[in-house]
Formats: sequence, structure tokens, C-alpha cells
Amino acid sequence: MTNPIGIHAGVWIGGWSPQETQLAFERTKSAGYQVIELTATAPEQIDTALVQELCALHGLTPTASLGLTADADVNNTDLAVVRRGRERLETALDLVTGFGGSYLVGVVYSKLGKYDGPATPAARANSVAALRDVCAKATSSGVTVGLEIVNRYESNLLNTTRQAMDFIDAVGADNLMVHLDTYHMNIEEGDLSRPVREAGDRLGYVHIGESHRGYLGSGTIDFPAFFRALVQADYTGPITFESFSSAVVDPALSNTLAVWRNMWDDNVDLARHAYRFITDGLAAARAGARS
Ligand code: MN
Repeated sequence: MTNPIGIHAGVWIGGWSPQETQLAFERTKSAGYQVIELTATAPEQIDTALVQELCALHGLTPTASLGLTADADVNNTDLAVVRRGRERLETALDLVTGFGGSYLVGVVYSKLGKYDGPATPAARANSVAALRDVCAKATSSGVTVGLEIVNRYESNLLNTTRQAMDFIDAVGADNLMVHLDTYHMNIEEGDLSRPVREAGDRLGYVHIGESHRGYLGSGTIDFPAFFRALVQADYTGPITFESFSSAVVDPALSNTLAVWRNMWDDNVDLARHAYRFITDGLAAARAGARS
């Protein structure tokens, strides 16, 4: 069993000029990764032909993630806001199919940000209906949609795997999967193993992030337990490293994610270290499972 190992483009770049795009792909490849995760927050800035060209050149697989925003949010009862949220999702899906990708993941079901109150049944129903339509469209392109479960300050709708599984049942689409992120699980879940078991064969995408989003192993997350759970579950999907520092600023994302501090300057060293950390961690978990 091997997982494609990826890295979020936010480690490298804060925008999508041709120069930035080339840099992100070159560094992803040279740090050893197989997958590059693009931010689809501003899809009109991404040149899909260039992405395809660079994927072919470097042998990389592209994925895309986004979070919705307050003015374009399907988890809402204002129908104009919901309509803009649906349009944003369609544009993001067009981006993924445009560069030949197979994954659209992230906070696709909600605004990425703090809400002023708990989720309401009416807003959730609008989100369920929107995801049903997006998944139907994604199926015809062979795209898997991942619901990234995030902490309470970044959505009021899906903070736990249990909630995500209920949401998936309500949507009823075969290509809708759970997207786990250790940074968020560390805040909301009781441990890092049970959510993997709860998701079962609905686990479709994984983000690896440290408790402070910096160097892996320098925070409080129990990565050995998480890697063991992935191995026990026979998870073979993508595992993507996410880290953010004020050294790389994305105007559309950094403030939303509360990237206020400098966690690193040398993203090449960071990325190489993370690749080794993840592959060594998985290898140790597999060896432990065999003995
Ligand atoms: Mn994440």
C-alpha cells in the first residue's frame, strides 16, 4: 500500500502568476512529492493549460481545494448568497476538470471562517442540496468531492467526522468523501484514530498539519497514532502536507486562516522535512502492523 504524497501550494506561493506557478511545481517535484494541491479560491487566476503542461513535465498530479466565503456560502439562508456559493463551487469544479484533476476538496459546504451562531437546519439543507448538485456534475468528470472537517472557528457545520458522515448520508452521492485534517482533528476530535474508523471507506483525502501549522513533529499532534489508524484502515488515497507562515502570503487565504506568525522562512527545508516525516511515519506504521 502506498499513498500519493502531496503538498499544498501555499507552502510555496501566494498567487498564480506564470512565474509563481512554475516555481511551485518545480519545488514540489524536487522535494519528492507526487501531488500538488492548488488553491481554487481565485480560480480565474489559474492557467489550466500551464498546470497541465507542468504536471506532464514534472510527473505531478494536481488536486484543488477551497473554502467558501461570507458572500458566497451555500450554508446560508439568504438565497442570493447561496446562489453565489453554488456558482463558486461550479467554477472550482470547472477548474479541476479543466486541468484534468480528480479531487475537489476543502470547505466546499460552508464559509471558511467563524460564524456568529450555530448551524441552522435551513442553512444545512441548502448546503446538502448544493453538494448533491455539485457531486452529480462531478461524477460525470470522474471527480471526487471531499468535505474537509474543520474546527469551530472555521465553520459551524462540520466540525467532527460524525457530523460529516450524517451530512454524506443526507446528500446521498457516491463520490462525496470525508477529508480529514490533523490540525482540525486535534482541536475537535477526542483522538486521532476513531475518526479514521468512523469514516471507514468514505475517507477520501487527508491533510497533514501540525498543531501550530509549522514543522511536523514540533507541535503536539500524535502523528504515530494517526499513521497507524490510516494503515489499519488500508487508506490508499492522497495525503497532503499543509503549512502556513507569514513568509508566504496569499491575499485570499492567509488572513482567513489567521496566519499571523512566522513559522518558517525556508520552505524548501520545511517541505523536504515534511516529506520524510510522512513517508517515514507511514513506513513505521506499516512495519508495526506486520509485526
Ligand atoms: Mn486542511
